[in-house]
Amino acid sequence: MPHTTPGGAPRILLVRFSSIGDILLTTPLIRALRLRHPGARIDALTKAPFTPLLADNPHLDAVLAPEAGESLASLAARLRPADYTHRLDLHGSLRSRSLRVLLPGRWGGYSKRPVARGLLVLTKRNRYPRGTPPVPERYFEAAAGLDVRPDGGPPEFALSAAARDEADAFLAAAGMPEGRAVIALAPGAAHATKRWPLEYWMTLARTLGVEGNRVVVVGGPEDAAAAATVARVSPAAVLAAGKFGLQGTGALLARCRVLVSGDTGVMHMATGVGTPVVALFGPTVKAFGFFPYQARSEVLQRDLPCRPCSRMGGPACPLGHHDCLRTITPEQVLRAATSLGGR
Ligand code: SF4
Repeated sequence: MPHTTPGGAPRILLVRFSSIGDILLTTPLIRALRLRHPGARIDALTKAPFTPLLADNPHLDAVLAPEAGESLASLAARLRPADYTHRLDLHGSLRSRSLRVLLPGRWGGYSKRPVARGLLVLTKRNRYPRGTPPVPERYFEAAAGLDVRPDGGPPEFALSAAARDEADAFLAAAGMPEGRAVIALAPGAAHATKRWPLEYWMTLARTLGVEGNRVVVVGGPEDAAAAATVARVSPAAVLAAGKFGLQGTGALLARCRVLVSGDTGVMHMATGVGTPVVALFGPTVKAFGFFPYQARSEVLQRDLPCRPCSRMGGPACPLGHHDCLRTITPEQVLRAATSLGGR
């Protein structure tokens, strides 16, 4: 039997401060908790910029965030009155571990397997000898006392009506057709080695346009310059990167029939809104646990002896050639996008 408070349902706090993909990958656990404990209080704690990822999640009672300048001690004091019966540390960072100390009680955690991941990088193996579940399923380790298991469904990124209206208005102003007729491209990535070459993105955008597709180029403000370069090559493309928040970007993706992306948070946003994904994986591998989860997708990757070369991507290819992504051609990506997106 799961632990409950006397005469009451569990009061559960999930902690994951960042980043986009990691937060969205907690949603299968959130869904399972709600279905198993319909009367529970379930709150999520994250950083303020990421709250839009969970704000409309129907399974949560509240999405909490540290206030600007708030200390961890003050945050812990603010959380204390809720008297959570279960506190799930889904981050395993210095900050979340410090919060555990400041908010003592029944905490569950999960194994991030940093040493094992480092060993894969060192030995250039792309799988663990005994296998390992993907990250969304590893999060369930933190909820061991709550009798939940993965339901086989994808992450959820719930969208507000306002975000959907914003995306619809943008696409209508760009002359984009109704329905899911647009292809999304996400050329950005935080680390350079995870980025498919810009000239390949430009070729892809141009070819998609010539073949009669409409294209929307998405990403965050930090991706806007590269995205603008891609959008400029085709009259069929429109630039959205840097113009929308997380909810608006999710709503745009929901209107697209397929997204092409690297190993990024945008990729997980698309799976969260039900849009198929063509994912380009270079220096990172499936065993790390971040492939598109339980969603329609095609992962393009190369079987190279130098993969994986880093745990999260890096500033430059250590070998100088970047063959892990350079040998994935625009023609291959076009075929995958056309096939997965249908028409
Ligand atoms: S080509 Fe090999 S070494 Fe270079 S970034 Fe890709 S995986 Fe790393």
